[in-house]
Amino acid sequence: MMDTVATLKGLRCPQCGSEDLDAKGKAGSMGKEVAGAFFGGAIANLAMSSSASKNTETVPLAYVCRSCKHKFQSPPLAAPQEDVLSAPCTISFTRVSSFVGALAAQVVYLNGVNCGAVKNGATITLQTSNRWNTMFVTDQYGVAFKSVYRFEAVPGGTVAVRFKRKFVE
Ligand SMILES: [Zn+2]
Repeated sequence: MMDTVATLKGLRCPQCGSEDLDAKGKAGSMGKEVAGAFFGGAIANLAMSSSASKNTETVPLAYVCRSCKHKFQSPPLAAPQEDVLSAPCTISFTRVSSFVGALAAQVVYLNGVNCGAVKNGATITLQTSNRWNTMFVTDQYGVAFKSVYRFEAVPGGTVAVRFKRKFVE
């Protein structure tokens, strides 16, 4: 369990088997983790300093199948050994400063794992040991923004990601 690397690659709709899924965010409107990140910097800092690639404490997230519209919940899967990098890749995630919702918490998910809240205009650094990465961001209520960022990580590489209510170049 300690060495498990979370992944969303291979996650399938239990009804039709499609991998074409939309992340909806947390199950329920105001989950514990989001509330924690919302009220206390300490929890967010703790989450950020731990390796996001490790499957520490994960909760099921809600998904909708784009093929058959089936809604379901699932925790992330464990990445198969061939998808685990020999050295982690570093991700720099920047929440681009914005007037809209400036004070609201936004929570970054990497491969279905909560990586903590990011303040308006702030940058956090994450690491991934998974080759196939999926990132999405939820608002303060745990609802995912529609934009999803998928990328292939290389061992020892660096990836810069910018987000302004959607992933931007
Ligand atoms: Zn389906």
